[in-house]
Amino acid sequence: MTVIKAQAALAKGAALEDFSYQPEELGPNDIEIEISHCGLCHSDIHLIDDSWSRSKYPQVPGHEIVGTVGAMGSAVKHLELGQRVGVGWQRSACLECDLCLGGEENLCPRQQATCMGHHGGLADRIRIDGRFAFALPPDLDSAAAAPLLCGGVTVYAPMRRYGIGATSSVAVIGIGGLGHMAIRMLRALGAEVTAFSTSPDKKPEALAMGAHDFASSTDAREIRKHFGRFDLILSTVAARLDWTTYLQTLRANGTLCLLGIPPGMIMQFPPSLLITGQRSITGSDIGGRAIIREMLRFVTRHGVVPQIQRMPMVEANAALTRLRQNQVRYRLVLER
Ligand SMILES: [Zn+2]
Ligand SMILES: [Zn+2]
Repeated sequence: MTVIKAQAALAKGAALEDFSYQPEELGPNDIEIEISHCGLCHSDIHLIDDSWSRSKYPQVPGHEIVGTVGAMGSAVKHLELGQRVGVGWQRSACLECDLCLGGEENLCPRQQATCMGHHGGLADRIRIDGRFAFALPPDLDSAAAAPLLCGGVTVYAPMRRYGIGATSSVAVIGIGGLGHMAIRMLRALGAEVTAFSTSPDKKPEALAMGAHDFASSTDAREIRKHFGRFDLILSTVAARLDWTTYLQTLRANGTLCLLGIPPGMIMQFPPSLLITGQRSITGSDIGGRAIIREMLRFVTRHGVVPQIQRMPMVEANAALTRLRQNQVRYRLVLER
C-alpha cells in the first residue's frame, strides 16, 4: 500500500500539519513524481484561507513542483523513470475539446488544478497526469524552475500573445514575485521596460533587473509622463489603481493585461478610452502546455531565472508566514 506523506491545513486558515494519504491508483497516463522542490505563491495562501470558497480540507498546498519521475503508467512514452520534471498550476485537462486541441489547455472547461480539489506538492510525492509534467532543460536549476512553472508562464504567455519583441515598449506594475520575472523576460525579449512600483527604494533593483525606466505606480503626475508610450501593460498587483490614467499610457491598439485580482474590485474607467486608440483591457490565466515548454526553453537560453529564497520543506509554516508578511524577495522555494 502506497502512502504519500504531506503537509496539510486541516481547517480554514490553519497552520500546516503532517498528513498522510493514499493516492489514487496510477492510471495509464499518470506519473508519480518524487518531489525535490516546491515553490509557494500567494495562491497557496488563498487556498489555505479558502479565499476563493473552493478549498477542501485537508488542503495540501503547493503547485510549483519539481522532482523526478518515480513511477509511470503504461501509456507514458514522453518521459523516463528518474527524469527531472516540473508541474505547475494545472494537473490535467480533457485534451479533446477545441481549446485543448488549440494549445489552450489552461482554458479547458474540464481542467483540474494541481492543489485545488487534489493534494498538492508539499509532500514527498504526487501523482498527476504525466501529460502535464514538463521535462526540465538540463541547464535549468531545479529550485529556479519551480516558480517559473506558475508565475513564470503567467507573465510570459501574455508577452507572446501580444507579440512583444525588440520594438515594443512594455510597463510592468508591481515588482514582486511576478513583476520581477516579467522585467527580466521582457528585457531578454529586447523590449523597452518601465517598472511601476509603490516603493521608490525598489528603483535600483528594478534597473538592475533590466528595467529601462522606473516610476511611482500611485503618483498620477508621474504616470502621466508616460502617456501614449506602452504597447502592453502587465499589472501584477492586487490593488486598486488609477486605471483611467494608466489606459492613457497605452499606444493605439495597446493592451492593459491584469494578472492580479484586486479584492472585490469593480473597475471604473471611461469607455471612450477603449474606442479612441482602440485600447483593450484583458486578463491572462497561466498558459497552455506548448507555451510552458517554450518558456522553459526561453529562460534557459537567456539565463532568465527568478530571484528565489530557499527554505527546507519541513519549515513550510515559517515560509508561509514570510509570504503572508510580504517578506519574500521574490519567490520562495522549499527543498527537501
Ligand atoms: Zn502560483
Ligand atoms: Zn479540454
